[in-house]
Amino acid sequence: MLRITLPLPKDVTPAPTTSRVAIIGGGFTGASLARLLAVNGQYGPDDIVVFESRAGLGGGLAYGTRNPSLRLNVAAHRMRAVPGDPQAFVHWLSASGRLDLDPDAVGDGGIYARRADFAAFMAEQIQPFLDRGSVRHVRERAERICRRHGRWQIEGDRGASVQSDIVVIATGHPPPTPPDLLSDSLGGDARLISDPLPSGALQAIGPDDKVLVVGAGLTALDAVGVLRAKGHCAEVTLLSRTGQLPQPQASGDFAPHGDFLIGVPNTALSLLERVRFALEEVTEAGLPWQSVFDALRHQGQAIWQALPLVEQRRVLRHLRRRFEAHRFRMSPQIAELVERERAAGRLRSRAGRIVAVRPGHADIVVDIATKPHGIVVRHAARWIIAATGPDHRNVIGSQSCLADMEGSGLLRNDPHGLGIACDEDSRAVARDGYPVEDLFIAGPLARGAFGELTGVPEIAAQAERIVQQVLAMRFATTRTITIRSL
Ligand SMILES: Cc1cc2nc3c(=O)[nH]c(=O)nc-3n(C[C@H](O)[C@H](O)[C@H](O)COP(=O)(O)OP(=O)(O)OC[C@H]3O[C@@H](n4cnc5c(N)ncnc54)[C@H](O)[C@@H]3O)c2cc1C
Repeated sequence: MLRITLPLPKDVTPAPTTSRVAIIGGGFTGASLARLLAVNGQYGPDDIVVFESRAGLGGGLAYGTRNPSLRLNVAAHRMRAVPGDPQAFVHWLSASGRLDLDPDAVGDGGIYARRADFAAFMAEQIQPFLDRGSVRHVRERAERICRRHGRWQIEGDRGASVQSDIVVIATGHPPPTPPDLLSDSLGGDARLISDPLPSGALQAIGPDDKVLVVGAGLTALDAVGVLRAKGHCAEVTLLSRTGQLPQPQASGDFAPHGDFLIGVPNTALSLLERVRFALEEVTEAGLPWQSVFDALRHQGQAIWQALPLVEQRRVLRHLRRRFEAHRFRMSPQIAELVERERAAGRLRSRAGRIVAVRPGHADIVVDIATKPHGIVVRHAARWIIAATGPDHRNVIGSQSCLADMEGSGLLRNDPHGLGIACDEDSRAVARDGYPVEDLFIAGPLARGAFGELTGVPEIAAQAERIVQQVLAMRFATTRTITIRSL
């Protein structure tokens, strides 16, 4: 690759050189970026374009639901969605009257608002810029993104065609892929629900139908909540490798505990030792263990980036599952539901894996090799819900526009299979190993570079950093020409 940086002529006062930014995806990440650009840049009409097929911006897959039984997993005061105004969402909940309409939101340790309310909050944040025209919402899915005459050309699935100087990929979570055995045995069978997240996905399940959920994380518990809210009362079994359910949030207010940034651990083992030590400290002090995992989350990006690649791999192989079980915690409302359902014997969890599937006339019969001894038990259910979470390994393959860009050498998977490769400035890393100056990767897709980049506060902070870079390019006093051989 050859890069030539040329100064602009002296008599040219810095004026916007790159004007249009196209953001692909209008969930929380894309909407945050668009809003921050509009707030900070001197953008004209149509200079910030967001491709998003959903009607509103800001909700995305995570919050774009109308189902009132789906709540945030994190208390409102910890959402910190707006840089510079961390309590904006809490204030909005009161001022908008949403809290009065939803008194059940108040749980032990904070307000666990409805996801739909968070989406409404985000939509309100972006609305003034849509009204003014500085942000344009193209209600289409981006199908093709390519280079044309030094700019980007983005084509939507319903005919839109937009040229831009910068592209930010914020397409969020890829769809889940059910385990092979399930898709091979039940492909095309409506009794396999391969993604419980879209609205209405569980609609056909009758109140007395037995359900087997494959997966036991927060998505699986969401499915249980949605089923019970619609009057489902039959047995639900959650099947996972460990049989463990997510941990509950701690009650009361507490500060994160543990400083992992002094002499940042540079091996997975030393990280584990430091975490164990911090856990002993909080146990002695009578503080909740959650405080240690909150500290790990806050410092997660610096910890991750200090680890060499081989140690990052070890963390993923040996510590990830345990970390995630403590990091992604259930809201008090879901914790209560789980307790109630278990006590009534209507919710069970099992450790094991499916080894055979037989679609019968009424029920689907599965053989499960149970843990720890591998004893095979037979289980019959009317429905199987795959709640194994987004398939980040297949993020590029799941989108034609991303697959095209990979084909042209402009994108590649990150080395851990967590999303798309980017550098520490969030710039996509091309096939030749060099960053693409005007192509950014935002949100959970960039986790390979940052480690902890799933929750709202971390995404909002990354969006702010990307916006600073885009603005620096906009008012640049030099021009860089990149010649690649891809
Ligand atoms: C169910 C769920 C609940 C969560 N709850 C919490 C929580 O309580 N607290 C918290 O901090 N974090 C939570 N998270 C984490 C969540 O990842 C982030 O908070 C954040 O919402 C991610 O936003 P996103 O915009 O990157 O992704 P998404 O929410 O996945 O949105 C991506 C958007 O991009 C659009 N898109 C995709 N491809 C294209 C294309 N080719 N063209 C145009 N548009 C496209 C999609 O339509 C979608 O609207 C939750 C995640 C999920 C999945």
